Amino acid sequence: MTVSQFMQMALMDPKDGYYTNNNPFGRSGDFITAPEVSQLFGEMIGLWTIDIWQKMGEPEAFILAEAGPGRGTMMADILRTLLKLAPKMMAGMSVCLIETSDKLQKVQEDALSSFNVPLMWQSHLNDLPKIPLILLANEFLDALPIHQFVFQDGDWHERCVGVSSQGILQWGLVPTAMKPSLHANPQDGDIFEINTTAQTFCTDLSARLQNNKGAALFIDYGHLESSFGDTFQAMRDHRFVDVLSEPGKADLTAHVDFDPLMKIAKASNLTIKSTTQGSFLLAMGLLERAGRLGASLDVGEQKNIQNDVERLAAPDKMGNLFKVMAFAAEGIDPHGFD
Ligand code: SAH
Repeated sequence: MTVSQFMQMALMDPKDGYYTNNNPFGRSGDFITAPEVSQLFGEMIGLWTIDIWQKMGEPEAFILAEAGPGRGTMMADILRTLLKLAPKMMAGMSVCLIETSDKLQKVQEDALSSFNVPLMWQSHLNDLPKIPLILLANEFLDALPIHQFVFQDGDWHERCVGVSSQGILQWGLVPTAMKPSLHANPQDGDIFEINTTAQTFCTDLSARLQNNKGAALFIDYGHLESSFGDTFQAMRDHRFVDVLSEPGKADLTAHVDFDPLMKIAKASNLTIKSTTQGSFLLAMGLLERAGRLGASLDVGEQKNIQNDVERLAAPDKMGNLFKVMAFAAEGIDPHGFD
């Protein structure tokens, strides 16, 4: 099978898939995502959402959607922020969680049911009602299956996963018609990754934003310019493990190549912005909010907040590796990208 089929199965198989059986996030899980580091992250995204809603002309009926919401922590922090700063916004708002894992849908329901807003779950973006949309996604694109292509003996091949005669998973290559085109000439062994699922998602999303108004914000690790490299990785218990060794037990991801996704949005005449997570969070007022949050706390708790801020925004932590990309319908200029 292709790497893409392997990744899809290992993560999403209805019986043995990683997201089917595990509760991967948080300190006790396999990895910690930004919303699980600190409430400050969701609060900054909440502020971004309010600004977009205002720039959309404060539509009464609209959807606030999140793709791949995990434990629902970011959405809970966003809804708390809206309730406090823009309660008017919540009157005509429906919250839609785009989630394929039944298990995680239940966890999200527990996290969000106390908020007095209509909640709905869908497995696909295309099933959302066609009204104005604000869509958010943190560490969603990296979980979508990638194809890998390997340059060998003067030609490109698709990378596959097979089973050896001893029953062990191993890599293989099959012929392909794909000819990845980059500025650099490929050398033997170069790997190029394509996330067709992410591209389809962005194609559908762009059409929707163009037709029904709205904006989208993606946060993920990856690169803003395409390049060669193998970024397929597996993580279990906060450690990198071999990608083929524990299918269904380890989280599989790949770095996001934002460049083709931005090109797709550009073709729909959307406004496109991108920057690093550190620069986005600082522009949204992370330091000011951290200062206010810490003002009434003791020194130990202030130190914890300071550590969380560093973890989210420092260049040697999540600040540079993670990128933020926004798409917006014509006339909406998203904040946070100065
Ligand atoms: N955003 C969360 C979780 C990130 S993990 C956080 O930051 O903590 C990836 C999430 O995407 C999980 O909720 C997983 O179940 C979901 N997911 C993966 N592939 C998906 C797909 N094709 N459609 C919808 N959700 C998907």
